[in-house]
Amino acid sequence: MRRKLVAANWKMHGSSALTATLLGALVAEPPPCEVVVFPPFPYLPQAVQLAFGAVGVGAQDLSAHVQGAYTGEVSAAMLHDVGARWVLVGHSERRQYHHESEVLIAAKLQRALENALTPVLCVGETLDEHERGNTERVIASQLQTPLQVLGSRLAGVVIAYEPIWAIGTGRTASAAQVQAVHAFMRSQLAAHDAKLSRLIRLLYGGSVKAANAPELFAQPDVDGGLVGGASLLAEEFLAICVAA
Ligand code: PEP
Repeated sequence: MRRKLVAANWKMHGSSALTATLLGALVAEPPPCEVVVFPPFPYLPQAVQLAFGAVGVGAQDLSAHVQGAYTGEVSAAMLHDVGARWVLVGHSERRQYHHESEVLIAAKLQRALENALTPVLCVGETLDEHERGNTERVIASQLQTPLQVLGSRLAGVVIAYEPIWAIGTGRTASAAQVQAVHAFMRSQLAAHDAKLSRLIRLLYGGSVKAANAPELFAQPDVDGGLVGGASLLAEEFLAICVAA
């Protein structure tokens, strides 16, 4: 049985005050599902302290290097050292603005797993790819390198399907569209390892709100959500968690 998971990607938003407000709300009213928050780097220690172990805390990115002269980078070991246990890898904004390649993303997944961090690997197609009917081809190619590099170690990863045309646009993929892509991802994973495909959690992300969460989370292959904008509003985010 896969436990439902709702993850909050704060992106480059927030402050100490907002960290206190959001963690305070989550800890005061523990949601029925597993919850993880991904604040910006500076707020990680504060979030860990306020989460009291009831809410998972993760970073939005990590370095593919172990350590060394890489100014501005943050290693997996450092994240673990400050209490983070999760990390986003390959978010579309990193793929787009920082030109992250499949090889780099696979290396980041390896560093995370070596340091006892659970990576949330983000995949998803652009609007153009979607409209040309290339969604499955894009998703298959984004899963290929992690599968080759990690094999059955991919069982330690959560995958988030985030169609780029639905991120921050208010345009949500329909529940049927999401279910179809998730079923396709499970079939791709099953071709490598049937057990892995049954166990791995697949999240949906892209304009998830309290209003659309129940239908999305009711799909048999949707194990929760990765929430951006709506995760910065305590009441809205709690309502999404309750839907899971
Ligand atoms: C995201 O950035 O991962 C995301 C899903 O954002 P939003 O919910 O705002 O579309």
